[in-house]
Amino acid sequence: MSDTVDSSEHCLRHLLSPGEPVRLDKLSTRGRDFHDDRKQADAELDELRDELAGLQRRLYAENRRKLLIILQAMDAGGKDGTVRHVFRGVDPQGVYVTSFRQPTDEELSHDFLWRVHRVVPASGSIGVFNRSHYEDVLVPRVEKLVPEDVWRNRYQQINDFERLLSESGTTILKFFLHISRDEQEKRLHARLTDPEKHWKFSDDDVVQRKHWGQYMAAYEEAFVTCGTKQVPWYVIPADQKWYRNLAIARVIVETLREMNPQYPPPSIDLDQYDLG
Ligand code: ATP
Ligand code: MG
Repeated sequence: MSDTVDSSEHCLRHLLSPGEPVRLDKLSTRGRDFHDDRKQADAELDELRDELAGLQRRLYAENRRKLLIILQAMDAGGKDGTVRHVFRGVDPQGVYVTSFRQPTDEELSHDFLWRVHRVVPASGSIGVFNRSHYEDVLVPRVEKLVPEDVWRNRYQQINDFERLLSESGTTILKFFLHISRDEQEKRLHARLTDPEKHWKFSDDDVVQRKHWGQYMAAYEEAFVTCGTKQVPWYVIPADQKWYRNLAIARVIVETLREMNPQYPPPSIDLDQYDLG
């Protein structure tokens, strides 16, 4: 095995230090010191998926705590693929995936957290956000959809919201899937040329690509302002899909191992029942 770091050390590698400024162009979009054999990586991902399924069953049975996984990325960064590959095998009863698109008129007529708060995971559940409330400090800022004081205030509002969730028993994992501009070009090109991928293409992909630098700056500010000790950010090299899946699966499984959910003891005296 060419894997030179163990799983928990590896998880820390992509963790940003809370409050420390970060330059995304200095962070690699490719993984290193890892399996150099795809087969090994796939075998480990299989094992992690089995473990994740077991941990999720216990979290669900325990019915006390919650896990929220936030996936952010530039277009074609691999959020959908991460959901498909990492969560394959978990019980759909306890995992809820929400994709956040451009807000509807009704959503826009409320505060920006309204649509988010109503879908946070309940006790025993895992919630996966495919995009999230972080869009509200990215798109409106870069595309100038709201005045600056409105999006600026949102950073603190997000911190308050995430603190509320974590103080209410929710562990939050925030992942930025970091792809290079070249890799995005390849993936968007495939959307334009492969009939099976046409449906994924959107005008917004091109608009946001043109403003790449401004999106990177907006992300960097979100990492430094909303990366707290309790709820830090992970920046995951995501040009290689196998590396991305494995790195994210490792962090999620490691987090659940630490949460160590337990099957609850019976709340009644089971000996009193006679099924005969
Ligand atoms: P992919 O990453 O594969 O391109 P996607 O996440 O872009 O998929 P779509 O449904 O095609 O999925 O697009 C969602 C769009 O909605 C994105 O362009 C995103 O930036 C935008 N969006 C999400 N939330 C907000 C928001 N709060 N304000 C403005 N735009 C938003
Ligand atoms: Mg898109």
